[in-house]
Amino acid sequence: MQKLMPKRVEKTFQGSMNTETNQPTHITNFIRNIIDADIQLNKNEGRVITRFPPEPNGFLHIGHAKSICINFGLARDYGGRCHLRFDDTNPTKEEDEYVSSIKQDVKWLGFDWGEHLYFASDYFTQMYEHAVTLVKKGLAYVDDSTPDAIRSSRGTLTESGKESPCRNRTIEDNLDLFSRMKNGEFPDGAMVLRAKIDMSSPNINLRDPVMYRILHASHHRTGDRWCIYPMYDWAHGIEDSIEGITHSICTLEFEDHRPLYDWFLKQLGVYHPQQIEFARLNLNYTVMSKRKLLELVNEKHVSGWDDPRLPTISGFRRRGYTPESIRLFCDRLGVGKKDAIIDMSILEDCVREDLDVKAKRVMCVLDPIKVVITNWPDDKLEELGASIHPKTPEMGRRSFMMTREVYIDRDDFMLDPPKNFFRLGPKRQVRLKYAYVITCDEVIKDTSGRVIELRCTYDPETGHGKTPEGKKKVKGIIHWVSAPHAQKVEVRLYDRLFDRPNPGGDQDGGDYKEHINPHSLKVIGTAYLEQGTDINLQAHYQFERVGYFFPDPKDSTKDCLVFNRVVTLRDSWGGEGKQGA
Ligand code: ATP
Ligand code: MG
Repeated sequence: MQKLMPKRVEKTFQGSMNTETNQPTHITNFIRNIIDADIQLNKNEGRVITRFPPEPNGFLHIGHAKSICINFGLARDYGGRCHLRFDDTNPTKEEDEYVSSIKQDVKWLGFDWGEHLYFASDYFTQMYEHAVTLVKKGLAYVDDSTPDAIRSSRGTLTESGKESPCRNRTIEDNLDLFSRMKNGEFPDGAMVLRAKIDMSSPNINLRDPVMYRILHASHHRTGDRWCIYPMYDWAHGIEDSIEGITHSICTLEFEDHRPLYDWFLKQLGVYHPQQIEFARLNLNYTVMSKRKLLELVNEKHVSGWDDPRLPTISGFRRRGYTPESIRLFCDRLGVGKKDAIIDMSILEDCVREDLDVKAKRVMCVLDPIKVVITNWPDDKLEELGASIHPKTPEMGRRSFMMTREVYIDRDDFMLDPPKNFFRLGPKRQVRLKYAYVITCDEVIKDTSGRVIELRCTYDPETGHGKTPEGKKKVKGIIHWVSAPHAQKVEVRLYDRLFDRPNPGGDQDGGDYKEHINPHSLKVIGTAYLEQGTDINLQAHYQFERVGYFFPDPKDSTKDCLVFNRVVTLRDSWGGEGKQGA
């Protein structure tokens, strides 16, 4: 697999945000080229009808977002429509909870299926009738060989398959058995309906694939009405055909299934959409298979499907990613035919880009050290101010008090700093952002030697962030908050869920769960937020010099704020995947 690192993608990137529509400007790609050619030839009278067909057996993840952006994006750009179709042909793993979460996620991403909401299970009767048609044409048969026998007679890539002894049953017998299968006369696994194609085909998918299996299981929509359920390859083309889909877009692993998709529709003589495959999205430092995500949730490695560390849409939403940033990411990657692993930093850059424009600025001290400004009178309060956004004055201004006691971040102080550390140290100077320059005169430690307080003096001539003429400019500027005015908040620092690019992948051999990053969540119970910040629970904030934050939608209230770190201000992992400072 080719690995796309940020620099590479930057070079090939042609998309950007259209500032008027707030949508990514679209880039042409091979699917658009196919559609353009179809329109030229007036194929399908120029219609473009796509679908997004999730199986309701889990929550959507960022890979699905890519498919959603492609399918709904094409419909939007070509004036067509995109259906949301639940591919609910497997009753054992599907639930209504997933149906509602999927709808919510697609809407949140900014797409709308209008009245075109469908369920594959609504077509079960038509699928059954189509299967009877194939049986009548001598193109499908009931096979009661054991599942093992069916599997072993399929052959391999180099060896052709063996025909089943059931292959030459009469049409009458097949019709009788198939209808009895449907009527519940046989137990699970007793027999299957198979297409009669070619056991010696070089494409294993064409070696008499199974169309129906017996499963006495309750379905989330059809209840106990059916005890035979269609296989994906049989069902999918029929679903597309019934809905008049023009371009049935799926991921690359279905390329070898396309001949089967085409065979079924051709034999049925029904409307025949075109299947087009693209490369699925893979991201490093995470897992995207629904089985693994379900395992992480069920085994409580994470707090739920919407845990902000998961690559699920609901996790990203809770963490504070915006729909715009995810759409930008999907657009930026383009649509290709070659599998690649995308570097997580590309996604992080997209959300930084979006939040840089939107986020309100505030100061917040995550790991406080108290600073007492000894030459500041005890009862003196001075109101200071700053813009809410440095590049957007329309967003207005904010104000906060300067007092004798302030908090600064522990990271901004060093007892024995090297020369190029431009923040605070004994006898050193630093500027409190938007306020004064202070000098550290004295360091107070507790019995264990931990610094608990700094005694400083301020220079009254350096107010409002300005250095008077003739005075030397201080290099370091740090954030701070007034101790008596600061608001106490909880902050959750999220990091990548896995400590290596390809958890459990080939290179490690081991179980992906062994590579869960033990530092993926750090909870700071007491952080100090700038005074008077009127928190909008739906808004994003930049904690100046620290990162982008979003009020946790589940655990935040106006009185007890919990902030999730969406992303740091800069990439701290580097290209090597090492954890930085
Ligand atoms: P599973 O993990 O069980 O194999 P799935 O990820 O294929 O499931 P579906 O619900 O079948 O999940 O997917 C719905 C649609 O999303 C399909 O059209 C599928 O091709 C697409 N899709 C799923 N994963 C990705 C991905 N990583 N990149 C792009 N598209 C994806
Ligand atoms: Mg699938």
